[in-house]
Amino acid sequence: MAVFGIDLGTTYSCVAHLDDVGRPAVVRNAEGADTTPSVVYLESVDNIVVGSVAKNTAVIHPDLVVSLIKREMGQDYVTPEIHGRTYVPEEVSALILRKLTADAELFTGDSANDVVITVPAYFGIAEREATRRAGEIAGLNVIDIVSEPIAAAIDYGVLRPDEDRSILVYDLGGGTFDTTVITIRGGDIEVVCTDGDHNLGGADWDLRLVEHLAKDFTAQHPDATDPLEDRETEQELRTLAEDMKKDLSSATQRTVRVVHDGRRATVEVSRDVFEEITHDLVDRTVDITRRIVEEAGRRGVTTFDDVLLVGGATRMPVVRARLVAEFGFDPKLHDPDLSVAKGAARYAFEETYRRLLSSGETGKANEMADRAGLSDKAQEAMSNRQIRTVASRSFGIKAVRRDNRTDFVAHLIHANDQLPADVTEEFGTIDDDQRAILVEVMEQAGPRESDLVENNNRIAEGEIEIPPRKPAGWPIDVTFRLSTSGLLRVAAVEKETGVRLELSVQVGGMTDEQVESARKSIALTRVS
Ligand code: AMP
Repeated sequence: MAVFGIDLGTTYSCVAHLDDVGRPAVVRNAEGADTTPSVVYLESVDNIVVGSVAKNTAVIHPDLVVSLIKREMGQDYVTPEIHGRTYVPEEVSALILRKLTADAELFTGDSANDVVITVPAYFGIAEREATRRAGEIAGLNVIDIVSEPIAAAIDYGVLRPDEDRSILVYDLGGGTFDTTVITIRGGDIEVVCTDGDHNLGGADWDLRLVEHLAKDFTAQHPDATDPLEDRETEQELRTLAEDMKKDLSSATQRTVRVVHDGRRATVEVSRDVFEEITHDLVDRTVDITRRIVEEAGRRGVTTFDDVLLVGGATRMPVVRARLVAEFGFDPKLHDPDLSVAKGAARYAFEETYRRLLSSGETGKANEMADRAGLSDKAQEAMSNRQIRTVASRSFGIKAVRRDNRTDFVAHLIHANDQLPADVTEEFGTIDDDQRAILVEVMEQAGPRESDLVENNNRIAEGEIEIPPRKPAGWPIDVTFRLSTSGLLRVAAVEKETGVRLELSVQVGGMTDEQVESARKSIALTRVS
């Protein structure tokens, strides 16, 4: 049975599997590249192109191209109308997954149906669930959703199975930034704490360069129209900017030609200028890293054996330089574009192996292990490995202060609490003879825990009945259970009658029926 790990990135995606000697290896796409741009070109309703062709098409047909969709996962978003219909983020991601798995089948000759998909550690429940649904819409069996730093640590940990280590993962991808502290002990992986910003990534550096190029062009041609007002030029500038940014990781200066409104301008950008105009973006990652270092310290991890740089944007020399200057770290670039997919492939393999063993299908499990050429020792380590992780955000319910009757969020689970978490707290009615309590489940929306309602998203709600004629303060017990993979179940119980309210978090707007109908419609589409 072949299983695959998919790093479904904001700007680029990557697929890996275990090769014939049990090593994680990247699966090339049909164009022969290790990574595929996460860009979708809707050429017609039933012919869709994903990858570098789509990325290049964005210049000519920006209205038919969707990119950076990962930033919208779990949000209330639909694309503008394209060929008479709109797409939700799950569908766009499903199209990317279709391309990735179709190419993986072509490359390996195996069916690519069973997959693990990675998400940033900072993703909340809605985003994780939307990612799982994207997989379902693509017709895949999603074995699990795994955090990117965990996948990177698996890839890294496997390289040094006998050493205990504390690792800080600094992951700056195309659209998201995450930093996570992980310990590897006796082959077990534990996430100590995690923090991040899912609106900060390489694409923001590109945007700064786009603005810079446009400004320089306008300075040279003050009479020309604004290049940023023209979608075609803007797209062109984005492509130029990304190439320029990548080149500035090795070269110290680069010159490009900007063509717009029938004029040309030659613009030279040095690495120093580039670093100057993006200084505040690096500062934001440093601030978050400082927060995580402090949090790790509070949790007993005060030194790091390794600082791993993952995500393509960590190739920018300024990242390493700032981490050295601010923290005295000695960061290592760890296969920045590929390690997440490789770790996910390893995890997909291990998880499937463990599930086969626990359901008594030893024959199948052994066959898998033999096929990957794993020794008995490696098999034993694999079946015993444990992964422990923490909550990426805080969760609570909306409550009312007794004294001034204002709303606030009472937290039951805090960011970085160990998972699985199981917490029960007592709440009470506020009025005499109150006949119901509305339980509104809230998830932290901003970067920090806050009891202000507006800094949280409501992710589920339900009403529990209270027997008649009970005094104010009549108690109910509310229980939050958050699983290791980030699924939240909430229960409320009225203790006298035993009436119970069960809420499983309702996410992202799509019902099972909608997922099924999207799956059917996308199955009929040609995706290449
Ligand atoms: P990922 O999501 O990990 O694939 O990271 C993709 C991001 O890394 C994109 O914003 C790329 O432009 C960026 N990237 C890739 N290679 C380089 C490079 N050599 N220098 C700077 N950024 C890069």
